[in-house]
Amino acid sequence: MYNLILFGPPGSGKGTQSLRIAEKYKLVHTSTGDIFRKEIRNGSPLGLKVQSIIEKGELVPDDLLVDILRSALQRAKQASGINGFVLDGFPRTIRQAEDLDKLLKEIGESVSMVLALEVDEEEVVKRLLKRAQLEGRKDDTEEVIRNRMKIYHSQTHPLMEYYIKQGKFQSVKGTGSVDNIFADICKVIDPGRN
Ligand code: AMP
Repeated sequence: MYNLILFGPPGSGKGTQSLRIAEKYKLVHTSTGDIFRKEIRNGSPLGLKVQSIIEKGELVPDDLLVDILRSALQRAKQASGINGFVLDGFPRTIRQAEDLDKLLKEIGESVSMVLALEVDEEEVVKRLLKRAQLEGRKDDTEEVIRNRMKIYHSQTHPLMEYYIKQGKFQSVKGTGSVDNIFADICKVIDPGRN
């Protein structure tokens, strides 16, 4: 199976591009952010637990992520006509990356590639503020955005090194039109076909 991690700061376009990748390559799109937002909308016990954390732009504790990922991966593995996964917003810490390796091993899988969308901080803050107006996400206020960026730099960015060491890290420029970025992504995923 082909198991891709789409990597990058908040607002780098992971959500948009991972949906396209999932469709083109028949991968199951798994966004931990989407999973949490759904739980919050449904008022589930998990949703209630994570709501204030997410609204402050903090990270949900690693322990809660493992169970969510395990069930998402198992469901995806059982789906028919699927070539693998595209993970969007996970892993975000070294501990999550290690847990992911273990979880994938349990089901006879591994990470195939980590693909980063490179966008500078000014640009992502601008995009997130615009998204705040359009979608009204509670974690898209300027103060919370700055906090999410700080956490990205301290906890998530170091993951690059983890995957570079494994020889799995690739990146594309995440600015320009959505179509052009997607075309660049496809060249990296499937160099023979483009
Ligand atoms: P996202 O839609 O990926 O930007 O996620 C929205 C929020 O959900 C994040 O700011 C975190 O509070 C929480 N979240 C999503 N994925 C994770 C993760 N892998 N680890 C911890 N918190 C997460």
